[in-house]
Amino acid sequence: MYNRIFNFSAGPSMLPVPVLEKAQAEMMNYEGSGMRVMEMSHRSPVYDAIIKGAEAAMRRVMNIPDNYRVLFLQGGASLQFAMIPMNLMKTGKADYIVTGQFSGKAYEEAQKYGQANLAATTKAENFTRIPRQEELKLDPEADYVHICFNNTIFGTKWDYIPDTGNVPLVADLSSCIASEPIDVTKFGVIYAGAQKNIAPAGLTIVIIRDDLIRTDLPAYVPTMCNYSIMAKNESMYNTPPCYPIYMCKLVFEWIESLGGLEVMAEMNRKKADLLYQCLEESKIFKNPNSPESRSMMNVTFRAEDDAVNAKFAKESAAAGFANLKGHRSVGGMRASIYNAMPYEGVEALVKFIKEFEQGL
Ligand SMILES: *Cc1c(COP(=O)(O)O)cnc(C)c1O
Repeated sequence: MYNRIFNFSAGPSMLPVPVLEKAQAEMMNYEGSGMRVMEMSHRSPVYDAIIKGAEAAMRRVMNIPDNYRVLFLQGGASLQFAMIPMNLMKTGKADYIVTGQFSGKAYEEAQKYGQANLAATTKAENFTRIPRQEELKLDPEADYVHICFNNTIFGTKWDYIPDTGNVPLVADLSSCIASEPIDVTKFGVIYAGAQKNIAPAGLTIVIIRDDLIRTDLPAYVPTMCNYSIMAKNESMYNTPPCYPIYMCKLVFEWIESLGGLEVMAEMNRKKADLLYQCLEESKIFKNPNSPESRSMMNVTFRAEDDAVNAKFAKESAAAGFANLKGHRSVGGMRASIYNAMPYEGVEALVKFIKEFEQGL
């Protein structure tokens, strides 16, 4: 009906059709206000209900306890690479576990603000797995431990939540937030750019435990990068990304209408299993990652022969499977199958892979 193709982009990525339809239906006159959501004052009562509704839906779906604040920020997950150390480094020491490109960037950025220690990395193995608990060289005196929970580029995911003792765990969940239930209480801070699973680009979600919001930050910290100011002003110190927040509300309400994160996880598991099974059986394409570390959201695969990879990228795109070419730093292919990717999309991709292989 909409000529919608299957878009496997790593982000920005597909949004659920029912959400887009609701946004369309509400587009020209939001709840009888005579205004469009993207036109209204962020200080108006009608918008206040939207941002409060987004937070409430997120709290219900993710089971976020009362002692955590939800912040709607800008600057992408990448700004959090700086905001985390600016706000959380007290003694000036933090542990970083590097499992891919984004955790590497976070580690580099933190070095501008203090002593970021490399507590573990699987770089020598080309990031094909997540380190085990016993490999983590954690400093009990560190201010926090930083991880990236799902590695968007390499297609790996933590299959356990590391035990960091009394040291708060900070996690980048950009590419797996709301894809399955997660115990928020195990984390000090969770952050995510919205453009993978939650909303259009422009919104960053931060879920932070109360006691980690400090009011005694160094003077150099920009006002806009200060969690306590953002929390005190309920994410409205300045103009928030109004429309993405509205879309975030619709997306969490959609997840809730399906039955919540257990159901979402089951749907995602089915999609990922189907694709990994196909790669298991393939004689040409392989997923390089350790089975226990495989991502449910980003599935990478490649043929040994780069000419075959190039041919697949070209022919799959022509057949209506968009954005399957892997990240430029990794090569091969990557299928990002976030919440909004329907099962039929993965089914069609699997069929295409099999036919491609037969045609070689
Ligand atoms: C996409 C992504 C980022 C970068 O997000 P921006 O919002 O573009 O800054 C960081 N971390 C992870 C895990 C990502 O998937």
